[in-house]
Amino acid sequence: MPDQHDGPDEPQEDPVASAADEPAAAAGNAVIREAEDLTGLGHGTRAVRVGRRRNLTALAPILWGSSAFFTDTAEEARAMATSTDADRFYSRWGNPSVRDLEEAVAALEGAEAARAYSSGMGALAGVVLGLCSTGDHVVAQHQLYGQTHNLLSTTCARFGIDVTFVDGTEPGAFASAVRPGKTVLVLAETPANPCLDLVDLDELGAIKGPITVVDSTFATPLAQRPLEHGVDLVVHSATKGLAGHNDATLGLVAGSAELLAWLWQSAVLFGAAASPYDAVNVLRGLRTLAVRVRAQSATALELAALLEAQPSVAAVRHPGLESHPQHDLAKRQMDHFGGVLSFDLAGGYDAGCRFVDRVRIAQLATSLGGPETLVTHAASTTHAGMLPDELSAAGISPGTVRVSVGLEDVQDLAADLVQALE
Ligand SMILES: *Cc1c(COP(=O)(O)O)cnc(C)c1O
Repeated sequence: MPDQHDGPDEPQEDPVASAADEPAAAAGNAVIREAEDLTGLGHGTRAVRVGRRRNLTALAPILWGSSAFFTDTAEEARAMATSTDADRFYSRWGNPSVRDLEEAVAALEGAEAARAYSSGMGALAGVVLGLCSTGDHVVAQHQLYGQTHNLLSTTCARFGIDVTFVDGTEPGAFASAVRPGKTVLVLAETPANPCLDLVDLDELGAIKGPITVVDSTFATPLAQRPLEHGVDLVVHSATKGLAGHNDATLGLVAGSAELLAWLWQSAVLFGAAASPYDAVNVLRGLRTLAVRVRAQSATALELAALLEAQPSVAAVRHPGLESHPQHDLAKRQMDHFGGVLSFDLAGGYDAGCRFVDRVRIAQLATSLGGPETLVTHAASTTHAGMLPDELSAAGISPGTVRVSVGLEDVQDLAADLVQALE
């Protein structure tokens, strides 16, 4: 580390430390740059520039693997132990690599603050259990990532948190399920897993009283920014498109500084901190987010159109298809339609299993947003724990297959999907 950036051991050289009114950040500030002004820049440019304040002059993200950091004085240690802002105290509180990622995603979402969690589910559990208490009410949609549905229907019940599930595509459904004074959280996912149903973000953002939350994993901040529509919190499984290389497990929540300070307190107690190793991989992934989202969105739309023409395919869903029932909404609130599509095989459960067994370029794996095209058969994997009526409420049929389109050449993928259908 260059001399001019020596921080923790030479606080007297740090102009911020002498200001004394902010001792909590003093040790950290010695190596923190001013945030860059990104006004007027496109979202792809932002994704390249953000999250570099603690990265010295290195271009690639620096891994701050340390779980603990020393301080010179008891006063500094006391201040850091009680600050939501200390990034060089103990890594469950905060860590420089993780904090750079948190600031990066906050900037991309247009949020004041963000908190990274050890996974997307960590982030969702952190939001639900960090904000709700026994006796509170939550409104959520049927169309959710399977494990989110599980969390809401089992863990919440165990803690006496009442959850109402609505059809997220139905206009006014969330608002009419809100119980004034009782409903603490309204939770949506758009585009939703695995059938790419959309929620109207303007409508959700207009709900006042409860805290509104959107799981925006399928979109990434390149394709949609829920906070711009008045939504309070946005959640990501950064394991997916944000990291983009299948080499990190991490979740993020972004929103107001006040809400994030509240969430920070429970996250520290839950031990839900993100690993700096994963944070570095997500920061690296952000640099190519724009080209990946553009390429995957374009390839997914081409493949979706191809699948629509296949006789063994009963229905295809992708927000970019004219046939998507919410295509107009997609055009209003999304800059890109995303790399995930799903389709129903007329042959049902067995046909779904056969298809995922026969693909050769695409691989059978349960994730999305990476360079490799992946297929999953919902009824036998991602949603295997759901009862038949829960499955149909989520719009999933026994033959539903999800495709996460990667970065391979479109003609190779097209040939692969067609041969697997035959
Ligand atoms: C994967 C996923 C999650 C869970 O994220 P993990 O990082 O696997 O914990 C939550 N929501 C959506 C939409 C997802 O795709």
